[in-house]
Amino acid sequence: MTDRRTVAVIGAGVMGTGIATLLSGYGLPVILVDADPQALARATAQVRGQLRLARMMKALPSGRPSGKVTTSTSPASIAPADVVIESVTECPDLKSEVLREASTVVVPGTLIASNTSAIPIDELAEATSRPQDLVGLHFMNPPYLIDVVEVVRGPRSGEAAVTAAKSLLTATGRRGVIVGDGPGFVVNRVLQRVINEAVRIVEEGIATPQDVDALFTGCLGHPIGPLATADLIGLDNVADSLTVLHHRTGDAGYEPAPLLLAKVRAGELGRKSGQGFFQHLEPL
Ligand code: NAD
Repeated sequence: MTDRRTVAVIGAGVMGTGIATLLSGYGLPVILVDADPQALARATAQVRGQLRLARMMKALPSGRPSGKVTTSTSPASIAPADVVIESVTECPDLKSEVLREASTVVVPGTLIASNTSAIPIDELAEATSRPQDLVGLHFMNPPYLIDVVEVVRGPRSGEAAVTAAKSLLTATGRRGVIVGDGPGFVVNRVLQRVINEAVRIVEEGIATPQDVDALFTGCLGHPIGPLATADLIGLDNVADSLTVLHHRTGDAGYEPAPLLLAKVRAGELGRKSGQGFFQHLEPL
C-alpha cells in the first residue's frame, strides 16, 4: 500500500501527539483532532520538538519530508482520512462515543484503530456501525521510539482491517505483534498489576519509589522500574486503566491503590505535570 495515506489521530494528548510525530516522521499526512484547542496548540509544538529529537537519535528517518500535520477541533474533519487512530482519554463511554461518531464520518471500510490501554476491542466495536473495521493498535510511549506495537484482533475485527493495520505499521517502521481480545490485552494485563503492587509497596512503607525501581533495574535488568514507567504513562491514565481492568475482571488486584488515586487528585500525574512518584524537571 502507498505511504501517502492520510491518517486522522483523534486525541492530542501524550499518545496522540507521539503517534502524530511517528506518522509525520515517515511522511504521512496527519489530521490531528482534539476537543481542547490548547491541547492542539501544545501538540503542534511538541511534534516539531519530537521530530527533531527522534531524527537526532536516528529513531526516525532523516532526509525525507515530514508529513503535514493539520489540527482541528471538529470530528467531521477526519472525513478524508484513509486510517483513523483513536487516542482519547481512557474512558469507555467517551471512547465509544468518539468511535461511533468517527465510524459515521469516514468511508465504510476505512481502518479504525483504538489505542486503548485496556478496554476490550469488542466492547468498543459495539459502539460502531461497522465492528469489522475496528482493531486495537496499542502503541507504547513514546510511539516514535518504541518499534513494537500490540495489535489487538477483536472477535469481529475483519481481515481487511487487520491487514491495513499491519501495512500501516510496516510503512512506519513498526513491528506488530497480534494478540487476542480481553481486558488489558497482554501488556497492560500484566504491567498495570505490577505498577499497582509497586504503589502498594510504597504505601505500606516497605520501600521507597527509588528503591522499588532500583531493584527492577538492578536485579532484573529492566531499563526503567514500574514507578518510573507509571510516571511516563501518566498516573491519571494508570488509574483509568486499572479501573477498566478492575471493573471488567472483578479482580481486586487491579483496584487502584489509594496512594495512586491521591496523587491523581493532587495533580501529581507524572512526567506530564512534572511530579509523580519522581520529580521531572522538564514536564512532557
Ligand atoms: P492524555 O490525557 O494525555 O490525552 C487525552 C486527550 O484526549 C486529551 O488531549 C483530551 O483533550 C482528548 N479528548 C478527550 N475527549 C475528547 C473528544 N471527545 N474528542 C477529541 N479529543 C478528546 O492521554 P494519553 O496518555 O495520550 O492516552 C490516550 C489513550 O492512549 C488512552 O486510551 C490511553 O489509555 C492510551 N495509551 C496511553 C499510553 C501512555 O503511556 N500514556 C500508552 C498506550 C496507550
